[in-house]
Amino acid sequence: MTTFKALVATKGEAGTNLAFTEFPESELMEGDVTVRVTHSTVNYKDGLAISGKAPVVRRWPMIPGIDFAGRVETSGHPDFKPGDLVVLNGWGTGETHLGAYAQMSRVKGDWLVPLPQGLTPAEAMAIGTAGYTAMLCVLALEKYGLKPADGPVVVTGAAGGVGSVAIALLAKAGWHVIASTGRAEEADYLKGLGAAEIIDRNELSQPGRPLGKERWAAGVDAVGSHTLANLLSMTKYGGAVAACGLAQGMDLPASVAPFILRGVALLGVDSVMCPKPRRLEAWKRLAADLDRDKLAAMTTTIPLDAVIETGKAIVEGKVKGRVVVEIG
Ligand code: NDP
Repeated sequence: MTTFKALVATKGEAGTNLAFTEFPESELMEGDVTVRVTHSTVNYKDGLAISGKAPVVRRWPMIPGIDFAGRVETSGHPDFKPGDLVVLNGWGTGETHLGAYAQMSRVKGDWLVPLPQGLTPAEAMAIGTAGYTAMLCVLALEKYGLKPADGPVVVTGAAGGVGSVAIALLAKAGWHVIASTGRAEEADYLKGLGAAEIIDRNELSQPGRPLGKERWAAGVDAVGSHTLANLLSMTKYGGAVAACGLAQGMDLPASVAPFILRGVALLGVDSVMCPKPRRLEAWKRLAADLDRDKLAAMTTTIPLDAVIETGKAIVEGKVKGRVVVEIG
């Protein structure tokens, strides 16, 4: 029997049990491409799955991990052949389909994108779902028609994964980036990524007024709740905020005032079921636009054995930038 190393989550009386085991290849789920996984990452959602703080896992037992890079071992899909390097983000991986914290994965070929030219598998996972989502947010603002000349852009959850990549991308594109963080000690890190101004997240995280002073033309929000409400209330006439996250909360205690009095738009961003053409566009832009030195500056590398503690740390807001998991 062929087995491989995997982190397996099972449902116990007291919550989620996690253990590294030898998992039988015969128990991999249905799919037309089998991948030797070389790298994964720890996203906020992975932290929720590992800590059991939110019902991310909807099939037991589960191998957590929502994204990976690796090499195709076998393929019945016309787009992929053995040896091809591939990237996977979302589609229920690590939620309803056995996920990335394992040496092997079997998935639908339709879920995979080819590793973009110019990126290594490790760099693709340094970007990971957080970075790909940051790119989707930037694309959403661009498609809405916003540009750096319209005014500043605010990025919340700045020292986190989505925030760090969003800052680097927006600064490179010429935006004046205002970074909102609870970690004042990371000011030099954020400026190194391209932030022009740093603000304390407490300015945005408390209940606010329906309309505030117009401070920015655009926003990328990884935080939700009062923070997103305040972002909207301080967005300039005709501006827009791309919302992708819920680190503060899933609620949105806002009023319609910014929408009906300033024509502000709220642009929802989802990475999990995002159609393939938009994924390919996002990955192409990431490969072309994301400064590799900045990517390296925001990246820490850990072995697979360290994903449990790192997953618990990320939901406590203690992880800076991005984490690559070497599967080995
Ligand atoms: P990280 O933990 O790396 O970043 C989140 C950041 O939010 C933290 O670093 C911290 O930034 C800030 N933060 C944490 N807790 C709070 C709080 N209570 N109040 C205000 N700010 C807080 O996570 P990711 O970058 O991986 O993900 C960010 C968010 O985006 C998550 O909610 C995640 O679920 C979501 N997401 C959504 C996707 C989608 O498809 N829509 C895809 C990927 C991510 P700082 O210390 O700088 O204040």
